[in-house]
Amino acid sequence: MTQSILTICYLFASITFILGLKMLSNPLTARKGNLVAAVGMTVAILGTIFLYRDEETGNNLHNYGWIFSALIIGAIVGTLAAKKVKMTAMPEMVSLFNGMGGACAALISIVEFLHISHQIHNGADAAYISAIRPTVMIILTGLIIGAVSFAGSMVAWGKLNGKVKDLSFTGQNILNLLVLATTIGLAVWLVVHPEQRWMMVVILVLALCYGIFFVLPIGGADMPVVISLLNSFTGVAAACGGFLYDNKVMLTGGILVGAAGTLLTILMCKAMNRSLKNVLIGSFGASAQTASGTAVQGHHKEISVADSAMLMAYANKVMIVPGYGLAVAQAQHICHELEELLSQKGVTVKYAIHPVAGRMPGHMNVLLAEADVDYEVLLEMEDANDEFKTCDVVLILGANDVVNPAAKTDPASPIYGMPILDVELAKTVIINKRSMKPGYAGIENELFFKPKSSMLFGDAKKVLQNLVTEIKAI
Ligand code: NDP
Repeated sequence: MTQSILTICYLFASITFILGLKMLSNPLTARKGNLVAAVGMTVAILGTIFLYRDEETGNNLHNYGWIFSALIIGAIVGTLAAKKVKMTAMPEMVSLFNGMGGACAALISIVEFLHISHQIHNGADAAYISAIRPTVMIILTGLIIGAVSFAGSMVAWGKLNGKVKDLSFTGQNILNLLVLATTIGLAVWLVVHPEQRWMMVVILVLALCYGIFFVLPIGGADMPVVISLLNSFTGVAAACGGFLYDNKVMLTGGILVGAAGTLLTILMCKAMNRSLKNVLIGSFGASAQTASGTAVQGHHKEISVADSAMLMAYANKVMIVPGYGLAVAQAQHICHELEELLSQKGVTVKYAIHPVAGRMPGHMNVLLAEADVDYEVLLEMEDANDEFKTCDVVLILGANDVVNPAAKTDPASPIYGMPILDVELAKTVIINKRSMKPGYAGIENELFFKPKSSMLFGDAKKVLQNLVTEIKAI
């Protein structure tokens, strides 16, 4: 009876995961989607704690003290972290949490391998060893993928908060391939000889090294691909745990995360014009260390808030290009106010969203959704590029790499090959940022020196507040 109720709990949870994921695909339903999936997860966890029965002994879980202590500590840390984290530090936190998922999957594998190893060393016969091999294979798959995801996510976390610098050296690709091949080779060997338990430690260390090595050189504009790839790794590692325990809800959750992460990786690769093969070997982005792009020369011109306001108020169409700086300034609400004000004056206002703008996939969509910007006015890169030629003014708010023409023109640039927003097709380009400093990829931007471009210096929030005041007065 209790097993049937537990199965129903798992079924319910699986359905909420699928519904939640579906709802996450639209900013209007995303928040509810998150809650729906969280309710499902709570039911699955509580169901497992109270209803699970061991098949052989019929005993339920014990160690309630440990389980609930860990749950309470985890809940407190998670709640505090989520409440305290600044919006700009969100991408780092997502990386950190992703890494924790990978670490959990690796720990499950370690515990389960030790369990099997214990049986073998207590005199299990050849038939047991032969029967256990498929399980060892799943355990090692979870161990390797989980460890790579954990180590890689930790490096990504360090890179996103600026504590870890890109590092590459000659022959790094070959080293990466060697480490990966050795890890897989030793894992296959251990499947054949599961009694050699020390080998698990070697595999774990190598997998951790691979995770570090393959993310370390990735720099410039290539991090988004790696972040989504690590995300999918965590999902696959969790799915291995589901296989291991024959736990349907763990399997469904893992597969959903793995599949969603893989799709996102493919989308990001497409957006960045990179191949997945290069990401897996960890070679691309290495150019970021060796090339900082061709030096840009010229003079930039500045524009005042009053002139910018005038240009926009009398325009037919204005395209806003949001970037990481808009998130830093937390200027999304005032940006929406500007958009509404211009619309009231008969100006058509749209937003051009580059897939890697900001510091996490979908960053700009989340930011603008928070300010209730209508989803209909958000244009994806291809659509925006078709519309720039009909725009009188493009207002760039804290974006840099995603509008850098070097991606098209400078083969020495670390962002070369990445599709960008073709803002130069518009009549006038106004760029708001605080200085002439480069963006994430660390390279200068020729756009700032073009005849059509004018710099509107200042913190995005302050500048937008002033723009709103000026336009109201027109
Ligand atoms: P960039 O990092 O290229 O540029 C952001 C610009 O915002 C900076 O040049 C900065 O200039 C300006 N800025 C910072 N603070 C403010 C402020 N308060 N007010 C106004 N401007 C400000 O951002 P993009 O969005 O153009 O590009 C994203 C980059 O991040 C890409 O290279 C992408 O590959 C990378 N990345 C993206 C990830 C993702 O998943 N989306 C993940 C990891 C990396 P100044 O200091 O002069 O103000």
